[in-house]
Amino acid sequence: MILGILGGIGSGKSTVTRMFADLGAKTLDADTIAHELIEREDTKSTLRQWWGDEILSEDGTVDRTKIAERVFSDAEELVRLEKLLHPEVRARIEEKISEFKDNNGKFLVLDVPLLASSTLRDFCDEILFVNSTEALRETRVKVRGWSPDELKRREANQAPEDNKKILANSVINNSGSLDETRQQVEDLYESLLAIDFTERE
Ligand code: ATP
Repeated sequence: MILGILGGIGSGKSTVTRMFADLGAKTLDADTIAHELIEREDTKSTLRQWWGDEILSEDGTVDRTKIAERVFSDAEELVRLEKLLHPEVRARIEEKISEFKDNNGKFLVLDVPLLASSTLRDFCDEILFVNSTEALRETRVKVRGWSPDELKRREANQAPEDNKKILANSVINNSGSLDETRQQVEDLYESLLAIDFTERE
């Protein structure tokens, strides 16, 4: 079965995804794929042509904070970056989904930030919404150095929370302790494994 994860920024999608991995699920994380892609020489060279060497860190890797500063303050630049990265990231995800199916995989979790507005959702048997209060999300992303305004700016580029909730058929409440979340993840994992998705429309 393939489970897609939705939720606001900092809601705990990665945390929940890791908990599924601890139980034996395979996971696919679009951010990691995008980060790998951004370091590829051809991508890096395009980014340097666009924005100059200032987007590089001293060690020659791409400084993602600088990229974020550019694209989250200029919608056109964001579209340009997305056009460069998204087709490749999508192709990689589709490839990995095929591998999972060819190997008769049991449980795959898709942690894809823009899943709500992507046709990758069609691959999912079930969609999970990870719910955390806005106040908690603000606190949890503070450690990344993001202010509440920065959080809002980034969220403006994603589908609104309510749209994501409507798409989901399961919810995990991550406004409590990690142990409480883990318990919900374990329960959901067991109940989803018991469903024969090949027989479900
Ligand atoms: P993004 O949208 O940026 O990918 P995310 O939804 O994947 O974020 P996480 O990275 O899982 O969110 O969580 C954000 C932060 O909150 C992390 O530092 C994580 O360790 C912490 N966190 C998540 N859930 C809890 C919890 N129940 N209790 C305490 N801290 C938590």
